Parts: sequence; C-alpha cells; structure tokens
Amino acid sequence: MPSKHQIETDPNPAGPEAAGLDTSGQSAVASAAADRRLFGRTAAELAELLVAAGEKPYRGRQLAEALYRQRCNDWASMTTLPVALRQRLADAGWTPGRPEIAESFRSVDGTERYLIQTGENTVETVWMPEGDGGAEDSAGSDAGQAGGESAEAGDGWKRATICVSSQVGCAVNCQFCLTAKLGLQRNLTAGEIAGQVVAVLERQGVVLNRKRINLVFMGMGEPFLNYENFMAAVRLLRDEVGIATQRMTVSTSGIVPAIRRFAAEEDRPRLAISLNAPNDAIRESVMPINRKWPIGELMEAVRTIPFRQREKVTFEYVLLDGVTNRREDARELAALVARHQLPCMVNLIAWNPGPGIAYSSPSAESVLAFQQQLLQAGIQTYIRRPRGRDIYAACGQLKRTTEPELVRLG
Ligand code: SAH
Ligand code: SF4
Repeated sequence: MPSKHQIETDPNPAGPEAAGLDTSGQSAVASAAADRRLFGRTAAELAELLVAAGEKPYRGRQLAEALYRQRCNDWASMTTLPVALRQRLADAGWTPGRPEIAESFRSVDGTERYLIQTGENTVETVWMPEGDGGAEDSAGSDAGQAGGESAEAGDGWKRATICVSSQVGCAVNCQFCLTAKLGLQRNLTAGEIAGQVVAVLERQGVVLNRKRINLVFMGMGEPFLNYENFMAAVRLLRDEVGIATQRMTVSTSGIVPAIRRFAAEEDRPRLAISLNAPNDAIRESVMPINRKWPIGELMEAVRTIPFRQREKVTFEYVLLDGVTNRREDARELAALVARHQLPCMVNLIAWNPGPGIAYSSPSAESVLAFQQQLLQAGIQTYIRRPRGRDIYAACGQLKRTTEPELVRLG
C-alpha cells in the first residue's frame, strides 16, 4: 500500500507522469484485456478502426451511437449495424467492452451503490436520485431545465447525481478516508470511468434529455493523479454520451500541477477542492499531501482558472469532531476564504465513520452552527446530506467490498 511517505517525497513538480504514475491506466493486467474493447474509443477512433477493416467511415458514428447512446453492450442488440459486420468484429476478438454492474445495493433513502467490474477489480459507483443537497446540486441550475422537470411523473425523481470512481483505491492517504486504506491499486481507463456512467444510466433507464443528470467525480481515487484518462472520459461523456461539462464536478485533494493543467483546458467540468481544514497545520495532520502543496499554493493554482460566468469553485470541508469543526475553525475558514477572493461556495460534509479510523462524527447541531458561522460571514455554504450510509455509499466509505480483491492481489 502506498505510504504517506511516498506521497510526501515523490519528486514530481511536473505532474503525475513525471512521478512515474501510470496515467495511461494501462496496467499490465488491464492492457491485455483492454486491447479489443470498443467502449472507451471516440467515434473518430471507431471510424478509423472500421475503415482499416474495409468499412465506410460512417459506420464509426453508428457504432459510437450503439455503444454510448443506445447503450448496447452485446452484439445482438446492435441492430443498426449489419449482422455480417458484427460477426466480423466478434471473430476478430472485439467486444463491446463496457464495464458491467456486478452487484448492487439499495439504501432506504433511494441511493444505489454499484460494484462495477473493471477487469480483475471492482470499482464503486453511486446513484443518488435528487442529489445530496450539497453544492453540486446547484450545478448548472441556470441552464433553464427546471420547467421541463416538473412535468416528469412516474419514476419519482427529476434529477440525479452519479458519483464516479477514477482509480481503484487511492494513493493520497487522507487520514479520515476509507479509500485511502486500500492504497492505489491501479488507474482506471477512460472507458472504465465513462463506462460507470453509461452502465448506471442503462440500469436506471434514463432518458437524458428528460432528466437532469449531474456527475461528480468523487468516488474512489484521485482523478487528478489519473489526469489523462479522467479528461478523456470527460470528453467521451460530453461528446458521445451527451452530458454537458457544466453538469460535471471533479473533486481533487489539491494536486497543484494538475489543477494548473486543468485551468488551461478549453472545456472542463466544475472544480471542487477538498480543503477540509482552515490552516496548514490542521490540513497537514489530516491530509499529508498538504506538506507537498500547502494551502497558499493550492489557492494560487485555483486562481489560474478562468471561471465561467456564475461558475464557482466548491471547497469541500469534512467536519471532524474536535479537529475541524470548532468555532475558531469556522472563523479561520471564513477568513481564509475571504482572503483569497475566489468565486466559491463551501460544502460541509459531516465525517462518515469507518472501521479503524479514529475520528468522531460531529453532532447535527454543531454542523448547523458551523454553517451559520460561515453564512454570517457571507459565504454560500451547503451541508451535504449523508446518502446511503446503510450501504456504505457515503463519502469516503467506498471501500468495503473491494477488500477481497486487496487480499487476492496481495
Ligand atoms: N480524491 C478526491 C475525490 C474523492 S473523495 C478528493 O479527495 O477530493 C470525495 C470527498 O469525500 C472529498 O472531499 C473527501 O474529503 C471526502 N471524504 C473522504 N472521506 C470521507 C469520510 N469518511 N467522510 C466524509 N467525507 C469524506
Ligand atoms: Fe484519496 Fe480523496 Fe480519499 Fe484523500 S479523500 S484518500 S484523495 S479518495
């Protein structure tokens, strides 16, 4: 398991690749199986592949439509393509190759948690009808869809949020997070990241233009330590699946070189920063990565982002009882946020307990009091409702059922 030490000492000022992190996502295990998976390729790449096989270029678009819009994951259902072509592809060893839901769990609050098979591992993806009340619920709310939503009836929800994983495990070692206990097992490919979304949309029978779907890249892993694949997944989801980047939010623990790179992207999701502490001393103690990229540097990097109109960065703040939720913490957090003068909002998350982690959850009253202090300081502040606690789907709890893999992989 990657240690705190590894994070603190890896000399990667130029970003994750320079640190030798596998940003291609093609680990030895995954690449053999990944070679002939169609899912994850853009329409242009699919066209190229088909042209090389003697087909007309428009077949690429058809194949992309079948994979990403019709969400076909077997040859039989791809009825827009000639049988002979499907047969030829299958004979050559190609598979539709979207990751499949291996197991699902349903919470009393409607949240569903899925274990999605990605090669030898499973990753976790969470479906939250009606979102979680946090800042991301307001994402894209100016997009003028509200009228159409209220007309929906029958399946009982108008919008939903899908929480997506970017890595199997995580190397960042935040002290309060269960995923950290796994260490990093491997990066997910773009197809495996986007595939979680398509698998869940399919399971839920979502008609995209009739429902508002928000994506949050807040599942297992640190998306900015798998930057290439994460951004490739974003483009696939935008171009091939049809979800606007304004409806996506990526959360990072503060990988500064990647934030700067993100700032230079022509089109990108919204950004959330896991701030989690009001000063460097506390942040270092709960997030060792702060020693590498302290709050000042982090804020400087966020400042390089050309925010769209009405766009705000979200500061996520996990409330650990007695550690980050004291009155002075709220005061200091308010001052910190004010000092940096960024268009921002704060998302408060009451810590979800996990086995072997020695923090305590704050009381509901203290969470409200913390919010009040920030509101009084003029800071837009949300409280994220814990969703699916009974099925281990809440923030930082996405770990449990991957443990068998941990044992198997040694
Ligand atoms: N690795 C990225 C995204 C995944 S973590 C990041 O850290 O930003 C998503 C959010 O869950 C982060 O804001 C993190 O601080 C929070 N989190 C992690 N463990 C938690 C726990 N046990 N309870 C509540 N929130 C937690
Ligand atoms: Fe990784 Fe995010 Fe958990 Fe930190 S909070 S260990 S960055 S998943």
